[in-house]
Amino acid sequence: MSATAPRKRRRRFKKQASDRPVVVPFTPDNDAAVCYVRQSHFTDESMSSDVQAQDTHRWTNAYGVPVAATVEDLHVSGDLEPHKRSGLKLWLSDAPPQPWKTLVVSKLDRLVRNVMDALNLLEWLRARGKRLIAIAEGIDSSNSMSEFLITLIAAFARMERERMRERFKDSKAKLKEAGRWAGEGHIYGTKPVQLPGGGWILGLDQYAVKILHKLSRMARTGKSLTEMCDWLADNKIVTPRDRQLQLAAERRGEDPATVDLKGYEWGTSVLRRLLENPDLVEFGIFEPAEQAEISARLEEKARRKTRGSNQPYPFSGVLVCADCLEPLWHRIAHSKRTRTDGTTVEYHNEYWHCPNYEHGSSMRADVIEPLAEQAFYKIFAMVPVRERIVLPPTTHENEIAKLEREHAKLMSGVARAKSPEDRRRIVDDGDKILADIDTLRALPADPGGVQWVSTDRTWQQELVGMSPEDRRLRWLELGFAFAVQKRPDGTWSAGWRLPDGWQEAMPEIAEWAERIADTGATIEITDLLDWPTGGPTESKR
Ligand SMILES: [Zn+2]
Repeated sequence: MSATAPRKRRRRFKKQASDRPVVVPFTPDNDAAVCYVRQSHFTDESMSSDVQAQDTHRWTNAYGVPVAATVEDLHVSGDLEPHKRSGLKLWLSDAPPQPWKTLVVSKLDRLVRNVMDALNLLEWLRARGKRLIAIAEGIDSSNSMSEFLITLIAAFARMERERMRERFKDSKAKLKEAGRWAGEGHIYGTKPVQLPGGGWILGLDQYAVKILHKLSRMARTGKSLTEMCDWLADNKIVTPRDRQLQLAAERRGEDPATVDLKGYEWGTSVLRRLLENPDLVEFGIFEPAEQAEISARLEEKARRKTRGSNQPYPFSGVLVCADCLEPLWHRIAHSKRTRTDGTTVEYHNEYWHCPNYEHGSSMRADVIEPLAEQAFYKIFAMVPVRERIVLPPTTHENEIAKLEREHAKLMSGVARAKSPEDRRRIVDDGDKILADIDTLRALPADPGGVQWVSTDRTWQQELVGMSPEDRRLRWLELGFAFAVQKRPDGTWSAGWRLPDGWQEAMPEIAEWAERIADTGATIEITDLLDWPTGGPTESKR
């Protein structure tokens, strides 16, 4: 969120009544059920198609709904839209083999894997007086829309957490892969390592990695860049440039001690660029969350330095102006008043205001701080926390290097082959490896990118019991900000601003925000808060 970014117009999610989908209320007369079962290749026994079918039949028996059909889609991924599945699509048409009104699944993920598909399907069902039953989640779509949505979003939050746990492991493994070294400079913390088959790959320079970890701890415990530079100088740690010279000397077989070095003068801006360099995450030297925390701490230090204040308040940096998006400034007002009887009263009020003094009036801290907190919990309490992970681009160079090494090793065995057959076999194997290398070279490179990976926690769980300062840093790391303004006419504008890429970071909110519009509601934040119309009133003391 940069200061120069143009202000995005807040979207209003109001729609015309005519755009809203038709709803035919569900009635139990002539009800018949389609019991749906889906199994992909990888499903475990506990969700076998038999078990799913039994679950659905138990439900229809219990509720006395006759079964029109039991439909199975085997070896079908849950990501395929329900209307496109070979078995189910016959029934999700306006001319089904038999009339039916209730679609029963043992678990929601048998039917849909994302909110969009769920809501599309739901719209289709509701327009035809049909309903959806998801037994495990306790979902019955003939209940009220809002009740249904809440259950649905909670169900997806849980589903997402289960799925992402797997992906998290994959991403971690990918992060470990480092690129090949083409001979130019390399980031502090890495060093070129020669491959047995020729060529160089960037490995870790354990000496520099240790320094980086020490610096990371210092930054995260609130040390300033200047303090860190002093520490580096005191401990005679050579600069990144000099470290490269030393390593180059080592590669040439020279004594690193004879290299002419610039010295131990680390600059604060060089140090900051280094600590925030995303390559450190790609090489697995820093964890993504760790680097985000370092950035947040350094940013906070820099901001306080320019403001001349050293003490952050629990909402410093989190509250921003709704117009210019600059962080609000904090002000403490002391005043004394002498009463007519001669005694004096002291006033002590804390305020937040736009740093440009242009947008709206000062706002009482004891009014807007609880408001920001309340607003956050209203929206995010049950959304799972996702961490931002930077995936390095994959050019297959690592796999190619690995295969080349394998090939070289294999070929070195040709001379020692005991028989012509053995030799033939080794050469054949070698040719296969070479063919694999060619295939890999022909593959398109994956540019990598940012991925949001779920943790097991919801935002509610994440923030509970945190100190105000930790909570503030957590919000800053993720890029959350609460934009608030008291307009000259006394009305309020308020809303949580979401971090860049938030649609990926919290798909539940994104899709819910899109769809809630159909019920006629808006997600203007002011509507979600327990405010009387016109906003909070300032109490006079
Ligand atoms: Zn402003």
